[in-house]
Amino acid sequence: MSIQLILQGAAGYEAENIMRLFFPAGRRAATADAQGDLVLALAGPHALLALVRMDGRTVWQAQAPAAHDTAEYDLCRLLYALLQSVTGRRPPWGMLTGVRPVRLIHDLRAEGAGEDAIRARFVDHYDCTPEKFQLAKDIADLQRLFLQANGRDCSVYIGIPFCPSRCSYCSFVSRAVGEKQVQALIGPYVDRLCAELTAIRQTVDACGLRVRTVYIGGGTPTSLDAARLEQLLRHIAAAFAVPALEEYTVEAGRPDCTDAEKLRLLKQYGATRISINPQTFSDTVLQTIGRRHTAQDVVDCYRAARAAGHACINMDLIAGLPGDTVAGFCQSLQTAIDLAPENITVHTLTLKRASDLVVEQRTALYDDVAAMTAAEMRLLPAAGYRPYYLYRQKGTLQNLENIGWCRPGHEGLYNIYMMEEVHTILAAGAGSCTKLVPPGARRGRIRRLYNCKYPQEYLARPDTAEKTQQETREFYAEQEHPQAPGQPGPDQPCRP
Ligand code: SF4
Repeated sequence: MSIQLILQGAAGYEAENIMRLFFPAGRRAATADAQGDLVLALAGPHALLALVRMDGRTVWQAQAPAAHDTAEYDLCRLLYALLQSVTGRRPPWGMLTGVRPVRLIHDLRAEGAGEDAIRARFVDHYDCTPEKFQLAKDIADLQRLFLQANGRDCSVYIGIPFCPSRCSYCSFVSRAVGEKQVQALIGPYVDRLCAELTAIRQTVDACGLRVRTVYIGGGTPTSLDAARLEQLLRHIAAAFAVPALEEYTVEAGRPDCTDAEKLRLLKQYGATRISINPQTFSDTVLQTIGRRHTAQDVVDCYRAARAAGHACINMDLIAGLPGDTVAGFCQSLQTAIDLAPENITVHTLTLKRASDLVVEQRTALYDDVAAMTAAEMRLLPAAGYRPYYLYRQKGTLQNLENIGWCRPGHEGLYNIYMMEEVHTILAAGAGSCTKLVPPGARRGRIRRLYNCKYPQEYLARPDTAEKTQQETREFYAEQEHPQAPGQPGPDQPCRP
């Protein structure tokens, strides 16, 4: 049975995050079972307590809260130290549980923090290893070139929630195109998506925005048949000035649905960057994760993409796939390097509830994944790649990261703009999220507007997407005429 995670008093979300650094598969419980392993955190008015009961042995640490505004951090620190000593493990990012460590460096710099203070925040305050801090800092330094944004810049994201089949680790909303009911959805979905893109174009014009990049993701966009794919590409070409874009990415993720005809269409309609994602070059692992293609199919698809004239190709790999080994992962990485794509993105496996993989597999993979990412840090720089963006996800093995690597001059711009929240992302399609970024924004002020999650819902509720356009226009109108200080706003009624 998985370990119980118990929060009491004012102990909350952050304390649970610290527990999950060490026990990602832990089970939240309101009260302790008489038997069984548990971790408990308590924040009371007079005491902070961290307690672990494992294998019949109980250890705990307590202290008085120093001050109200540091109580949460103090409890997390207490818990972190106790869990480190009990497990003998030091998470590479220490107590830093946020998704965007690079963004934290940008924010600290914007607030005027010096380099020593930023280092101290990572290494001393969060117990991040010096290597991880250096990685985040190198990426932040490189990204400085790309952070300049005009307040009217934006990018457009287009989501295709269909795939040839479901991968066992996948937690995205994506339906397998082979299913009969799904087939019936695809035509109406593309029609609705085109209508939404027309509305986005009108919003862009009404708000005086400049579209810098377009990204078609998913799912697997090339799971659409050639006619539907062309319908979408033609519509995008009519709605946006494709030749003026800085970058136009299409995920052509899987070779079992990406043929020469579709690769030709992507090139013809102006895509400047495509992604062909092996995840692994082991046929055995591909079978284990539910892929219906071989490693050789990926190589053939890559060569077909080059033959079609694609000059910027990304390849995604995953460290920690079930059935993979450290040697197998290194072999996959070397195969990708030998193919010489402009970008290689290495993800660490993330398991979420929606995944078909059993949660216990996290434990088996825990130690190997560190060796895999260590190989990544060695092999890719030696081959001339440098890290240009990084993010983390909840539930990632060892709380590790995903890193986008590139050959110099081939940074994936949309990835930087989106991850560092440089400018607004206008999103279309089921499950997508529009992020409205005010000029000079801090994280808390970004407004997120969500589309319906599932394709059926998306088709049934066009009003949701329409509301997003309306709110986007209002958002930009507010930027032009900000509320004067002291004047009542809509949420601030006049009082007699
Ligand atoms: S191809 Fe990607 S989006 Fe599709 S099922 Fe596999 S992991 Fe999920």
